[in-house]
Amino acid sequence: PESTTAQLDPRVQAFLNSGPKRLFIGGQYVESISGRTFATKDPSTGEVLTYVFEADKEDVDRAVEAAEKALQGPWAKVTPSERGKLIWKLADLMEEHAEALAQLDTLDNGKPIRETRNADVPLAIDHFRYYAGWATKVHGEVIDNSVGSHMFTYTRREPVGVVGQIIPWNFPLLMAAWKLGAALATGNVVVLKTAEQTPLSALYLSELIQEAGFPDGVVNILSGFGPTAGGAIVQHPRIRKVAFTGSTEVGKLIMQQAAGNLKRVSLELGGKSPNIVFPDADFSKAIPGALLGIFFNQGQVCCAGSRLFVHKKVYDNFLADMCSYAGKIKQGPGLDETTEIGPLVSDEQFDRVSYYLNKGREEGANPILGGQPLDRPGYFVPPTIFADVRDDMTIVKEEIFGPVVAALPFDDEEQIADVIRRANTSEYGLAAGVWTTDARKAHRVAHELEVGTVWVNCYNVFDAAVPFGGYKQSGFGREMGNYALELYTQVKAIWMNLG
Ligand code: NAD
Repeated sequence: PESTTAQLDPRVQAFLNSGPKRLFIGGQYVESISGRTFATKDPSTGEVLTYVFEADKEDVDRAVEAAEKALQGPWAKVTPSERGKLIWKLADLMEEHAEALAQLDTLDNGKPIRETRNADVPLAIDHFRYYAGWATKVHGEVIDNSVGSHMFTYTRREPVGVVGQIIPWNFPLLMAAWKLGAALATGNVVVLKTAEQTPLSALYLSELIQEAGFPDGVVNILSGFGPTAGGAIVQHPRIRKVAFTGSTEVGKLIMQQAAGNLKRVSLELGGKSPNIVFPDADFSKAIPGALLGIFFNQGQVCCAGSRLFVHKKVYDNFLADMCSYAGKIKQGPGLDETTEIGPLVSDEQFDRVSYYLNKGREEGANPILGGQPLDRPGYFVPPTIFADVRDDMTIVKEEIFGPVVAALPFDDEEQIADVIRRANTSEYGLAAGVWTTDARKAHRVAHELEVGTVWVNCYNVFDAAVPFGGYKQSGFGREMGNYALELYTQVKAIWMNLG
């Protein structure tokens, strides 16, 4: 279809034109103490969108103070029912501002507007609504003890207190929602640091948080870099928990640093997810499923199906069909309403993915589609399919975080056990896909894969009620569903001697 660029929402225009964006601390918009700012860029052109103030340790200190003040003051008086209403109100406001939120994520991250409109924003809204419901349903229990009938014992599930949250750039608004929803429903106060590549939508969200009526200091949003602002959050002695989504490498650093004050840690990290196509699969679903698995969000998805195992019997035809579909995927700037795949988020990510394209070729893999970055402004890498891939190649072992799939054949003689063994060799264990019409085989494979999510005859499906998180070095702790409530509550046992 003809290109049609989305009309810029006047609220986005006003937001971008209002000078360097400030930090959101204690319900106020403040400059960073250092006064330093940094640029955030449009990945489709490399041009500066706007500047944001850069938080550092002293700003984290200020945010913690504001959060503590809220925790001990007005937030403590807000009942669970009122908390639920506030979160629901925020979701309503997001709906009113949906187009602005979608455009900001598209501008800042590069992702297609059809995705931010149809996935990121509605999922974020739904996430808040889901956790609004939980606010009134988190409770302790009365426990029968054997000490004696005079002793009454019960538990309370109390908030952890000030929680630090550090999010990545691949789903800026949605990751903020995943972090904030459960933390707020359970009565915590938050210091959230956005990724330096994509600070804008969370700052816009902060305006809606204010408008919804959350007391000042309940949510604080800082733009800043990992080792400085992020490190200060992880090391702050009065932040009692840190929730992190990002690379496995940084996840390890965070765990080490958090050990210093025994902060609770939950980590959602990288992946190298296997997507396994058996010869009895319904190919009319498996082919689009394999494409969605790797090319959604330019492949910058922690659970991207980047190791595609296809049975030898169907390997050549399957790949030929994938290429013919993928060759028609429309790539362009995210704001073009007909764009299906946008640019990568940054020049660093462009360099990183380009490195893996070279590495794949050097080690003998055959790029049957794409394989070269595009020679145009912005950070564009085309959908790339590597065939003739071996398990020991770098592109099979390391996370690329781009639109690059390694297609590996498996065969009958080796049995199902062998493809499961190969799928499980990765140190990552975030997700996997299985394509088959045999329900017995599907269950068996799903049970034996060492991953936190298995999609059978589907891929990249999410719902606020269904837990998500990693096995092995993809992290621990589960976001979404009732499982996330565990991350943000602590249990107190109370003994009352009624004798
Ligand atoms: P990254 O780990 O460098 O950055 C993620 C966040 O951590 C950013 O906010 C960054 O500023 C911060 N950070 C960086 N260094 C830090 C430090 N020393 N201390 C505290 N905070 C620090 O990752 P990236 O390259 O920006 O993002 C891509 C990676 O994130 C990929 O590897 C991907 O797999 C992973 N990821 C995982 C999930 C998941 O749900 N498991 C989701 C999205 C992305």
